[in-house]
Amino acid sequence: MDKFDTSRSCAVLLDQKDPLAKYRDQFLFPKTESGAPYLYFCGNSLGLQPKQTKDHISAVLDQWADKGVKGHFNGALPWLDYNDRLNPMMADIVGALPEEVVIANTLTVNLHLMLVSFYRPKGKRVKILMESDAFPSDRYAIASYLSHINIDPKEVIVTVEPRSGEVLLHTSDIIGRIEELGDELALVLMGNTNYYTGQKLESKRISEAGHHAGALVGFDCAHGAGNVPLDLHDNDVDFAIWCTYKYLNASPGNLGGIYIHQRHANDPNVPRLQGWWGEDKVRRFQMRDAFMPQRGAEGWQISNPPIVSLAAIESSLKLHHEVGMEAIRTKSINLTGYLEYLIDQLQHEQLSIITPRDPSNRGAQLSLLINNGSKDIYDRLISSGVIPDWREPDVIRVSPVPMYNSYEDVYKFVQILQVTLSSCVV
Ligand SMILES: *Cc1c(COP(=O)(O)O)cnc(C)c1O
Repeated sequence: MDKFDTSRSCAVLLDQKDPLAKYRDQFLFPKTESGAPYLYFCGNSLGLQPKQTKDHISAVLDQWADKGVKGHFNGALPWLDYNDRLNPMMADIVGALPEEVVIANTLTVNLHLMLVSFYRPKGKRVKILMESDAFPSDRYAIASYLSHINIDPKEVIVTVEPRSGEVLLHTSDIIGRIEELGDELALVLMGNTNYYTGQKLESKRISEAGHHAGALVGFDCAHGAGNVPLDLHDNDVDFAIWCTYKYLNASPGNLGGIYIHQRHANDPNVPRLQGWWGEDKVRRFQMRDAFMPQRGAEGWQISNPPIVSLAAIESSLKLHHEVGMEAIRTKSINLTGYLEYLIDQLQHEQLSIITPRDPSNRGAQLSLLINNGSKDIYDRLISSGVIPDWREPDVIRVSPVPMYNSYEDVYKFVQILQVTLSSCVV
């Protein structure tokens, strides 16, 4: 890789040539006690606040103040169809048709809703295939859902694990497991991208194998949405869920996204938990007895959505839409490659990168394994003005986010990391 070197001027030059550099100024950076902005590398956990978000939220509050209930139908942006405008922008980000995406509820709740619709055990076809290190909330949701329908989770959850001595999954192992389970397999459900290792899975091949076995295939894209191209529709994924507060900068705990492939989304016979907001729009206010779902993923909405929350999502989606996933991904590959290059140059024995080395198998995040498992390094990074993210038992996750992190951020971070490592010798 001769496009990088270890000088500061290399970082400065890369920033000068960066077409996304101007977007940094659109975000608010948390500050240290001395008032300097933190080097923020935690967008994988909570994305930064766009400066324009406050105005979007204020506009909703003003409309509420001025119009009360009439705000649903009048004003610059009537609330009744507020999220109808947002769903297509979100669909663009995850590579779906507009009708396949809806913003509603929150991630783990949506996982429960997807299980109601897409876990349909029948005869011996009962098994669910997951990764062994799936995010805890996903494991709890699936296990508790199974218990709720009187199925013992231990009987049906099957996991695929890294090979002995490795941390990443091989696609061939996942496909091998799918083929082995064959007509016992009801559902494949995996994280894409993995929250711990940063590994992006080959969703097209996994979907193909799952469908070949007669199963449905869903992905938790909490760490994928806004980070990597997901191409959910073209990869023939059955359903996916994600949150909007990580790479999508939509404020802490904000609503999540649901993708449902059009072949399911437009089928009124797919079982689902119902609420009036999933009802066909023409009938919604007719208050009839029988539920008739709206076509598309909107038919999985339950309640009328919180507009203040949607305002924050709108603000951030507009930025993402303006830049586009292609430009975001192009910078991301280069910026993360630069981080990888600088860390490799440290050649520090206490530190190893466990994230895939091939950019096509990862997003913005590099997971750094601290070989003696000491959290001390992380604590010292924080007090040196860096915010990365710590994952028990022994990993520091560092995510340079293309819209607001600069090459110079990455350069400064690695300088600080080097000093920190040498002062933390065990
Ligand atoms: C962040 C994250 C969640 C969080 O779920 P919420 O319901 O939004 O709190 C769930 N699953 C994965 C894989 C995540 O990364």
